[in-house]
Amino acid sequence: MKRLALLTSGGDAPGMNAAIRAIVLAGHYFGLDVIGYRHGFNGLLEQEYQTLMPSDVNNIIQRGGTILKSARCKAFTTEEGARQAADNLQQAGVDTLIIIGGDGSFRGAVHLSNFWSGSIIGLPGTIDNDINGTDATIGYYTAIDTALESIDKVRDTADAFERIFLIEVMGRHAGFIGLSAAVCSGAEQVLLPELYPNSQPDVEELVGHIQKAQQIRGKCSYIMVISENLWPGGATDLANQINARTGIDCRPVILGHVQRGGSPVSLDRMLASKLGAYAVEAALKGRTGIMIGECNQRMVEVPFEQTWNKPKELDPYLVRIQQEVFDLVKNSA
Ligand code: ATP
Repeated sequence: MKRLALLTSGGDAPGMNAAIRAIVLAGHYFGLDVIGYRHGFNGLLEQEYQTLMPSDVNNIIQRGGTILKSARCKAFTTEEGARQAADNLQQAGVDTLIIIGGDGSFRGAVHLSNFWSGSIIGLPGTIDNDINGTDATIGYYTAIDTALESIDKVRDTADAFERIFLIEVMGRHAGFIGLSAAVCSGAEQVLLPELYPNSQPDVEELVGHIQKAQQIRGKCSYIMVISENLWPGGATDLANQINARTGIDCRPVILGHVQRGGSPVSLDRMLASKLGAYAVEAALKGRTGIMIGECNQRMVEVPFEQTWNKPKELDPYLVRIQQEVFDLVKNSA
């Protein structure tokens, strides 16, 4: 193998730059030529790439976002698109492509492999942590801390005014950020998609929980963390419904894209550095069709299909203590 290419695709995540740095440094350590495609799969179609030298990755480990830019690319999902990408990779003399992204990007990797014989390796880069085969994804730990910083601030004002806040966090269709943020912020209630696989939260029950909490503790602040995409109309609609039924003043806060930004925390930098370096070593051994992950401090190679073939499970112990041990209302019954 002589020429290694990489790209970042799908939602950006803090730590992607740390992964790029690790790949570039490891690539050069092993004497490889490294290039980076810009704007995700669009870069493959447009032949938009740049040589990456170690000097290009100076001082990026601490930066959020991705120096290669990220994007979504509809044209690539067609057969014609993948054939074009394969031709372009061939022309550029690329032997291995490393894709840093989420499960959609890994589906894209498999799609490309139908038309290109080079090796393809994935790194899990998404704040959602919704990828099987790795304990965490690059960006997840930073997103929790970012959400938490905001929730702690909301708690201060909620406490001062004895108010109820519904805080909507990201996660796409998974509750990893929601659960972690709820546990770490001491939220009174958390609504996660995994807790309602075939149903919706019952507004009467939610109201009952709030009222009971106020009976037990007197008028007090109350934080409900809610995952995006769980409630039609989101936290704003749910807050309105609770207001309408009870007259209780209930404020929605939608954290939104702040959760995707910011300087990566140390855990994300470490994970990205390990995964990036290992991906290059795996490429040198001729591996392909796999995502590199980390489980129990061991680097693992996971076939792409296994990363999305079933929903990733939330930590069951964390769910139990949030739902049982820390639930003041349930415990008072
Ligand atoms: P995140 O979960 O953080 O948003 P992601 O990688 O899952 O990241 P997607 O938008 O789902 O983000 O996918 C990124 C890109 O991968 C898409 O824009 C598309 O080009 C490609 N892609 C996604 N799904 C497929 C598919 N089934 N077949 C081919 N390509 C795909």
